[in-house]
Amino acid sequence: KHASKIRLDNVKQSQVREKDKADRATAELVLDNRTRMILLQMINRGFVSEVHGAISTGKEANVYGAVLYPENADEPTQKAIKVYKTAILGFKDRERYITGDHRFKGGVGKGNNRKMIEAWAQKEFRNLNRIYDNGIPCPEPITYKKHVLVMGFLGDKRGYAYPRLRDARLVGDNVEEQWHSLYVKLLGIMRRLYQVCELVHADLSEYNILYHDKELYIIDVSQSVGHDHPRALEFLRMDIKNVGDYFRRQGVDTLQDRTVFNFITA
Ligand code: ATP
Ligand code: MN
Repeated sequence: KHASKIRLDNVKQSQVREKDKADRATAELVLDNRTRMILLQMINRGFVSEVHGAISTGKEANVYGAVLYPENADEPTQKAIKVYKTAILGFKDRERYITGDHRFKGGVGKGNNRKMIEAWAQKEFRNLNRIYDNGIPCPEPITYKKHVLVMGFLGDKRGYAYPRLRDARLVGDNVEEQWHSLYVKLLGIMRRLYQVCELVHADLSEYNILYHDKELYIIDVSQSVGHDHPRALEFLRMDIKNVGDYFRRQGVDTLQDRTVFNFITA
């Protein structure tokens, strides 16, 4: 049986560059006692066995790699743990996503920063459930507690996360064709997200999509809103613009934003 532990000193992620050292220091600061307690509880409850180094350190959240060694002799599975930060900066404009979401009516006050970030974890968990259950590629939602979310890991066996679409390097003699079919695929995903999941991502771009083996994975859905949210269509237009701009830069002959909007909402 494997010992359970939180191993933050032994960082295996090799994407970490020198100039990320400052970020990494910040990353370890985010593991205050409350966060450690929650991680230990998740270990005790068998959601994960070990917590590893940071996959990503950002303004609003850090994402850590983790492993679960199952009770039976099954292969260990990799997980990802997103820890939302209690920083006051960066959360001010997030208010607008919660306001108007009937699931959070009267629940989240502006002044209560802690309740606010806890709402983000819950929101991301619920949104992931809807997206995952409808068969759109995304991390498998596993559990959440307070400001900590556990999900499936999107990456290879060595622990390398799949690249963001922003960093994906397509290879082969039909790269142009591949970009075109990724574009078409993404429009289909956006349509299903809207029509079937009844969600608008609201922060969709090449930074919140992971790429692997011709597949696109939607991530970072804490700010996603229901399609009945008062600003849903405004957010959708923003998503459509980001996606169109990016694929146009990759040489794809993109559709007009208006056409895409009609395709998604019709
Ligand atoms: P910030 O805005 O602070 O950077 P964020 O809210 O953008 O954080 P995410 O986009 O959800 O956080 O995740 C940040 C990065 O972590 C992603 O770009 C991706 O590289 C990695 N990541 C997130 N979730 C997973 C996952 N389930 N599997 C593998 N990698 C992941
Ligand atoms: Mn992101």
